[in-house]
Amino acid sequence: MLKLYNSRSRQIEDFKPIRPDLVGFYSCGPTVYNYIHIGNLRSFLLADLVRRALKFNSLPVKFVMNITDVGHLTSDSDTGDDKLEKNARTLADVQMLAKKYTDAFLSDLTALNIDPPDVLPRASEHVPEQIEMVRTLIDKGFAYESDEAVYFDVAKFPDYNQLTGQKLDDMMLGARQEVVKDPRKKNPIDFVLWFKAVGRYQNHIQRWDSPWGVGFPGWHIECSAMSRKYLGNHFDIHAGGIDLKFPHHTNEIAQSEAANGEPFVNVWLHGEHLSLPEGKMSKSEGNSITLATLIDKGFSPLAFRYLALTAHYRAKLNFTWDGLQAAQNALNNLYSIISDFTAPAGQAEKFEQAFLAAINSDLGPPQALAVMWDLVKTDEVSDAAKLASLFKFDEVLGLKLKDVWTASQVIPEVVINLASERETARRAKDYVRSDELRRAIESNGYFLEDSADGFRLKKKF
Ligand code: AMP
Ligand code: ZN
Repeated sequence: MLKLYNSRSRQIEDFKPIRPDLVGFYSCGPTVYNYIHIGNLRSFLLADLVRRALKFNSLPVKFVMNITDVGHLTSDSDTGDDKLEKNARTLADVQMLAKKYTDAFLSDLTALNIDPPDVLPRASEHVPEQIEMVRTLIDKGFAYESDEAVYFDVAKFPDYNQLTGQKLDDMMLGARQEVVKDPRKKNPIDFVLWFKAVGRYQNHIQRWDSPWGVGFPGWHIECSAMSRKYLGNHFDIHAGGIDLKFPHHTNEIAQSEAANGEPFVNVWLHGEHLSLPEGKMSKSEGNSITLATLIDKGFSPLAFRYLALTAHYRAKLNFTWDGLQAAQNALNNLYSIISDFTAPAGQAEKFEQAFLAAINSDLGPPQALAVMWDLVKTDEVSDAAKLASLFKFDEVLGLKLKDVWTASQVIPEVVINLASERETARRAKDYVRSDELRRAIESNGYFLEDSADGFRLKKKF
């Protein structure tokens, strides 16, 4: 049975779906004001791993990931400019930026072999649903209106600290007052559900009518409203990076449970960060590395996927170029070994059991990779059975083993022709020409190895 560490209970628990026919899974997605970095991608790879692990356990999943294109301010605590609007002057600018970075995000997902979510809702396209939820919160006495905003009244929600386990007083100390202090805000920890387009936000470009005047939604309400729309009031799993635990997920729980009057999410999963020697990688620190940079430096995107699998998702992963090179070498080595394997047949039962046990033990990717390598190297199992089981493992690992093996079985005609020309030159003792042709074969991505009965071509990885 799949076991997952639930941040809310702080324990590893058996995963018991609410409905066995469809697991509801939500992960916070990107704020599309810039290119995402490989730290963000580590979090999206975690969501992908969860989705694949569920399917591996024959649990069908509905996976929802939002696109934040309004309301996320430059500080996570309701202050500063709207990230999307900082570099925009018109609505067309905002929409153009959001589209550009959403497209770039989706192409990064494809490059990393992450399937697109089943639903990818945009916050700006779900404002009526957000307004509806704010209205419910006011009607039920969990929210109040000032001249500047509508706030969630944290004091009315006794379990506010359930995710962080922090004392409310300590959380209060951590909460910063608004830059423009609002005299009608009851408690510094109260957070914005709806910003009115007044004062600092009077020129906010994206604006909608609401019962509280023209304005725009706060950041947290989008995930509560959109998860409810696509997964219902109560669903199975919610994931995100560790930094979202507070305030974002804490606020999501408060809003959803207060509005819906029932539990929100059963399992909260938080992925640790990807960091650099100097600290956390973040867009605002200006130390972001993008997938495009990795590709420009000659790495394959799947080398980053492999690197992410080498650390447990609840452990920090320190990114170094040497570490990425080691991951690339390991992946190339794996590809090179499997390309010599004969067509898949049978299975390696003992290894399959060990692999399932590794995945089901809180996703344990490093252990799963270790089982995979044990299988690759063992003498106990035929190559055909190894390949059959490796293809199954790859349903979770996502390293494209089937594609790589299939492609390796067909040698391009141009390479075959070069090789037979070279054989002719070699027999004629024309070694200069023979060496030239060997180099041409190599520049086409193949090695030529002479053997007793002729030659053998092998793809280079
Ligand atoms: P954002 O685009 O800032 O809203 O972040 C999108 C996702 O990336 C969230 O789940 C964040 O928690 C996550 N995230 C941000 N920085 C990092 C990092 N350095 N390592 C891992 N995940 C991160
Ligand atoms: Zn969210």
